[in-house]
Amino acid sequence: MPFFRVSFLEKLAPVTAIFSTRQGGQSEGPYKSLNLGFHVGDDYAKVLANRRLLAEVSGLPLEKWVAGEQVHGAKVAVVDSGQAGSGAEDPGTSLKGVDGLITADKGVVLAAFFADCVPVYLLDVKRQVIGLVHAGWRGTVKRIAARAVELMNEVFGSRGRDCWAVVGPSIGPCCYEVGPEVEESFKSFSWAGKVLKPGEGGRLHLDLWEATRLTLLDMGLLPERIAVASLCTACHSDIFFSHRGSGGHTGRLGALLGWRLDGE
Ligand SMILES: [Zn+2]
Repeated sequence: MPFFRVSFLEKLAPVTAIFSTRQGGQSEGPYKSLNLGFHVGDDYAKVLANRRLLAEVSGLPLEKWVAGEQVHGAKVAVVDSGQAGSGAEDPGTSLKGVDGLITADKGVVLAAFFADCVPVYLLDVKRQVIGLVHAGWRGTVKRIAARAVELMNEVFGSRGRDCWAVVGPSIGPCCYEVGPEVEESFKSFSWAGKVLKPGEGGRLHLDLWEATRLTLLDMGLLPERIAVASLCTACHSDIFFSHRGSGGHTGRLGALLGWRLDGE
Protein backbone atom coordinates (compact mmCIF):
# COMPACT_ATOMS: atom_id res chain seq x y z
CA MET A 1 0.00 0.00 0.00
CA PRO A 2 1.53 3.32 -1.02
CA PHE A 3 1.46 6.31 1.34
CA PHE A 4 3.30 9.60 1.72
CA ARG A 5 5.88 10.10 4.45
CA VAL A 6 6.22 13.63 5.77
CA SER A 7 10.00 13.39 5.86
CA PHE A 8 10.35 17.14 6.54
CA LEU A 9 9.18 16.35 10.11
CA GLU A 10 10.45 12.78 10.43
CA LYS A 11 14.02 14.07 9.93
CA LEU A 12 13.69 16.44 12.91
CA ALA A 13 12.35 14.20 15.65
CA PRO A 14 11.40 10.57 16.35
CA VAL A 15 7.91 10.95 14.87
CA THR A 16 5.98 9.08 12.24
CA ALA A 17 4.05 11.45 9.99
CA ILE A 18 2.12 10.10 7.03
CA PHE A 19 -0.61 10.93 4.54
CA SER A 20 -2.52 8.10 2.89
CA THR A 21 -3.56 7.74 -0.75
CA ARG A 22 -6.74 6.15 -2.10
CA GLN A 23 -4.78 3.09 -3.24
CA GLY A 24 -4.36 -0.34 -1.66
CA GLY A 25 -7.63 -0.71 0.28
CA GLN A 26 -10.78 -2.82 0.14
CA SER A 27 -13.58 -0.33 -0.57
CA GLU A 28 -15.44 -0.23 -3.88
CA GLY A 29 -17.34 2.20 -6.05
CA PRO A 30 -16.70 5.89 -5.27
CA TYR A 31 -14.73 4.80 -2.18
CA LYS A 32 -12.21 2.75 -4.16
CA SER A 33 -10.19 1.79 -2.46
CA LEU A 34 -8.54 2.98 0.77
CA ASN A 35 -11.45 4.96 2.19
CA LEU A 36 -10.82 5.82 5.85
CA GLY A 37 -14.05 7.76 6.51
CA PHE A 38 -16.87 6.02 8.38
CA HIS A 39 -19.47 8.72 7.76
CA VAL A 40 -19.45 8.86 3.94
CA GLY A 41 -21.80 5.95 3.18
CA ASP A 42 -19.23 3.21 2.71
CA ASP A 43 -19.43 -0.26 4.28
CA TYR A 44 -18.29 -0.04 7.93
CA ALA A 45 -16.35 -3.33 7.86
CA LYS A 46 -14.37 -2.24 4.81
CA VAL A 47 -13.46 1.12 6.34
CA LEU A 48 -12.34 -0.61 9.51
CA ALA A 49 -10.26 -3.08 7.48
CA ASN A 50 -8.71 -0.14 5.59
CA ARG A 51 -7.85 1.63 8.83
CA ARG A 52 -6.27 -1.56 10.18
CA LEU A 53 -4.21 -1.92 7.00
CA LEU A 54 -2.90 1.63 7.25
CA ALA A 55 -2.17 1.18 10.96
CA GLU A 56 -0.15 -1.91 10.18
CA VAL A 57 1.92 -0.53 7.32
CA SER A 58 2.57 2.77 9.10
CA GLY A 59 3.42 1.23 12.47
CA LEU A 60 0.84 3.46 14.18
CA PRO A 61 -1.55 1.11 16.04
CA LEU A 62 -5.26 1.81 15.51
CA GLU A 63 -6.01 1.54 19.23
CA LYS A 64 -3.82 4.62 19.77
CA TRP A 65 -5.49 6.83 17.17
CA VAL A 66 -7.44 9.84 18.40
CA ALA A 67 -9.71 11.66 15.98
CA GLY A 68 -11.91 14.73 16.23
CA GLU A 69 -15.47 14.92 14.94
CA GLN A 70 -14.37 17.48 12.29
CA VAL A 71 -17.12 20.06 12.03
CA HIS A 72 -15.19 22.82 10.19
CA GLY A 73 -14.84 24.69 13.46
CA ALA A 74 -11.79 26.06 15.28
CA LYS A 75 -11.82 23.90 18.39
CA VAL A 76 -8.46 22.34 19.21
CA ALA A 77 -8.21 19.68 21.91
CA VAL A 78 -5.26 18.69 24.08
CA VAL A 79 -5.25 14.90 24.13
CA ASP A 80 -3.35 12.21 25.98
CA SER A 81 -3.21 8.43 26.16
CA GLY A 82 -6.36 8.41 28.30
CA GLN A 83 -8.24 9.20 25.10
CA ALA A 84 -6.39 6.69 22.92
CA GLY A 85 -8.80 4.97 20.54
CA SER A 86 -11.34 7.82 20.47
CA GLY A 87 -12.88 7.83 17.00
CA ALA A 88 -10.58 5.01 15.87
CA GLU A 89 -13.05 2.15 15.42
CA ASP A 90 -16.31 3.81 16.38
CA PRO A 91 -17.06 7.22 14.81
CA GLY A 92 -19.44 7.92 17.72
CA THR A 93 -16.46 8.19 20.07
CA SER A 94 -14.60 10.90 18.11
CA LEU A 95 -13.98 14.09 20.09
CA LYS A 96 -17.09 16.29 19.77
CA GLY A 97 -16.77 19.52 17.84
CA VAL A 98 -13.00 19.12 17.46
CA ASP A 99 -11.01 19.88 14.29
CA GLY A 100 -7.51 20.14 15.77
CA LEU A 101 -5.48 17.97 18.14
CA ILE A 102 -2.29 18.58 20.09
CA THR A 103 -0.35 16.32 22.45
CA ALA A 104 2.95 15.78 24.23
CA ASP A 105 1.95 12.21 25.10
CA LYS A 106 3.81 9.46 23.26
CA GLY A 107 0.91 7.04 23.78
CA VAL A 108 -1.45 8.61 21.25
CA VAL A 109 -1.51 8.97 17.49
CA LEU A 110 -3.20 12.07 16.11
CA ALA A 111 -5.54 11.20 13.23
CA ALA A 112 -7.59 13.32 10.84
CA PHE A 113 -9.45 12.64 7.60
CA PHE A 114 -9.65 14.58 4.36
CA ALA A 115 -11.12 15.00 0.90
CA ASP A 116 -9.73 18.40 -0.23
CA CYS A 117 -9.47 20.12 3.17
CA VAL A 118 -6.00 21.04 4.39
CA PRO A 119 -4.02 18.84 6.79
CA VAL A 120 -1.61 20.88 8.90
CA TYR A 121 1.09 18.99 10.76
CA LEU A 122 2.84 20.79 13.64
CA LEU A 123 5.97 19.87 15.58
CA ASP A 124 7.78 21.65 18.38
CA VAL A 125 11.07 19.80 18.58
CA LYS A 126 12.19 21.62 21.72
CA ARG A 127 9.20 20.79 23.88
CA GLN A 128 8.31 17.55 22.09
CA VAL A 129 4.79 18.60 21.20
CA ILE A 130 2.88 17.63 18.06
CA GLY A 131 -0.32 18.91 16.50
CA LEU A 132 -2.61 18.00 13.62
CA VAL A 133 -5.29 20.25 12.17
CA HIS A 134 -8.16 19.80 9.71
CA ALA A 135 -8.75 23.10 7.90
CA GLY A 136 -11.18 23.79 5.10
CA TRP A 137 -12.00 27.38 4.16
CA ARG A 138 -14.20 27.85 7.23
CA GLY A 139 -11.51 26.57 9.60
CA THR A 140 -8.91 28.70 7.82
CA VAL A 141 -11.04 31.84 8.29
CA LYS A 142 -11.30 30.88 11.98
CA ARG A 143 -7.48 30.57 12.06
CA ILE A 144 -7.53 27.03 13.40
CA ALA A 145 -3.83 26.44 12.63
CA ALA A 146 -2.97 29.55 14.66
CA ARG A 147 -5.28 28.39 17.41
CA ALA A 148 -3.35 25.10 17.58
CA VAL A 149 -0.02 26.94 17.93
CA GLU A 150 -1.57 29.22 20.59
CA LEU A 151 -2.78 26.21 22.55
CA MET A 152 0.64 24.53 22.25
CA ASN A 153 2.01 27.72 23.80
CA GLU A 154 -0.60 27.95 26.57
CA VAL A 155 -0.36 24.31 27.63
CA PHE A 156 3.23 23.33 26.87
CA GLY A 157 5.10 26.62 26.49
CA SER A 158 5.78 26.13 22.76
CA ARG A 159 6.97 29.21 20.89
CA GLY A 160 6.15 29.82 17.26
CA ARG A 161 9.79 30.10 16.27
CA ASP A 162 10.48 26.63 17.68
CA CYS A 163 7.68 25.05 15.66
CA TRP A 164 7.83 23.35 12.28
CA ALA A 165 4.81 22.86 10.05
CA VAL A 166 3.75 20.99 6.94
CA VAL A 167 0.75 21.84 4.77
CA GLY A 168 -0.26 18.49 3.31
CA PRO A 169 -2.00 17.45 0.07
CA SER A 170 -5.34 19.24 -0.36
CA ILE A 171 -7.25 21.22 -2.96
CA GLY A 172 -4.96 23.68 -4.70
CA PRO A 173 -5.53 27.19 -6.03
CA CYS A 174 -5.67 25.60 -9.49
CA CYS A 175 -8.99 23.88 -8.71
CA TYR A 176 -10.56 25.78 -5.82
CA GLU A 177 -13.04 28.19 -7.36
CA VAL A 178 -15.03 30.00 -4.67
CA GLY A 179 -18.10 32.23 -4.45
CA PRO A 180 -18.89 35.58 -2.82
CA GLU A 181 -19.51 34.07 0.63
CA VAL A 182 -15.93 32.83 0.82
CA GLU A 183 -14.52 36.05 -0.64
CA GLU A 184 -16.40 38.08 1.99
CA SER A 185 -15.09 35.86 4.81
CA PHE A 186 -11.45 36.43 3.90
CA LYS A 187 -11.76 40.21 3.42
CA SER A 188 -10.66 41.06 6.97
CA PHE A 189 -7.22 39.49 6.47
CA SER A 190 -4.50 41.93 5.41
CA TRP A 191 -3.24 39.24 3.03
CA ALA A 192 -6.63 38.48 1.40
CA GLY A 193 -5.37 39.73 -1.97
CA LYS A 194 -2.58 37.17 -1.92
CA VAL A 195 -4.89 34.18 -1.52
CA LEU A 196 -7.91 35.20 -3.59
CA LYS A 197 -7.12 35.64 -7.26
CA PRO A 198 -9.15 35.35 -10.44
CA GLY A 199 -8.54 32.13 -12.34
CA GLU A 200 -9.22 31.34 -15.98
CA GLY A 201 -12.76 32.46 -16.71
CA GLY A 202 -12.65 35.26 -14.16
CA ARG A 203 -14.07 33.47 -11.11
CA LEU A 204 -12.08 33.77 -7.89
CA HIS A 205 -9.79 30.97 -6.80
CA LEU A 206 -8.76 30.49 -3.18
CA ASP A 207 -5.23 29.44 -2.21
CA LEU A 208 -5.70 27.62 1.11
CA TRP A 209 -2.04 26.56 1.10
CA GLU A 210 -0.81 30.15 1.11
CA ALA A 211 -3.53 31.23 3.56
CA THR A 212 -2.34 28.52 5.97
CA ARG A 213 1.31 29.48 5.46
CA LEU A 214 0.56 33.16 6.12
CA THR A 215 -1.48 32.26 9.22
CA LEU A 216 1.49 30.30 10.57
CA LEU A 217 3.95 33.12 9.77
CA ASP A 218 1.67 35.44 11.77
CA MET A 219 2.21 33.07 14.73
CA GLY A 220 5.97 33.53 14.55
CA LEU A 221 6.91 30.41 12.62
CA LEU A 222 9.98 30.91 10.47
CA PRO A 223 9.44 30.69 6.70
CA GLU A 224 12.10 27.99 6.33
CA ARG A 225 10.29 25.87 8.91
CA ILE A 226 7.04 25.69 6.93
CA ALA A 227 6.81 23.19 4.08
CA VAL A 228 3.93 23.13 1.60
CA ALA A 229 3.38 19.84 -0.22
CA SER A 230 1.77 21.68 -3.18
CA LEU A 231 -0.07 18.51 -4.18
CA CYS A 232 -3.64 19.16 -5.35
CA THR A 233 -6.16 16.46 -4.44
CA ALA A 234 -8.56 17.50 -7.21
CA CYS A 235 -5.85 17.35 -9.90
CA HIS A 236 -4.80 13.79 -9.02
CA SER A 237 -7.93 11.66 -8.79
CA ASP A 238 -5.91 8.47 -9.24
CA ILE A 239 -4.00 9.14 -6.00
CA PHE A 240 -6.42 11.15 -3.86
CA PHE A 241 -10.08 11.38 -2.92
CA SER A 242 -11.46 14.82 -3.80
CA HIS A 243 -14.81 16.24 -2.72
CA ARG A 244 -14.73 18.82 -5.53
CA GLY A 245 -13.27 16.44 -8.06
CA SER A 246 -15.94 13.80 -7.48
CA GLY A 247 -19.06 15.92 -7.16
CA GLY A 248 -19.18 15.26 -3.42
CA HIS A 249 -19.52 11.48 -3.26
CA THR A 250 -16.14 10.09 -2.30
CA GLY A 251 -13.92 8.58 0.40
CA ARG A 252 -11.54 10.10 2.92
CA LEU A 253 -7.74 10.20 3.09
CA GLY A 254 -5.92 10.01 6.40
CA ALA A 255 -3.21 12.08 8.07
CA LEU A 256 -1.49 10.42 11.01
CA LEU A 257 1.10 11.89 13.34
CA GLY A 258 2.60 10.15 16.34
CA TRP A 259 5.82 9.66 18.30
CA ARG A 260 7.82 6.61 17.38
CA LEU A 261 7.90 4.11 20.23
CA ASP A 262 11.47 3.02 19.55
CA GLY A 263 12.47 6.65 20.17
CA GLU A 264 15.17 6.66 17.51
ZN1 LIG B 1 -5.74 21.28 -8.86
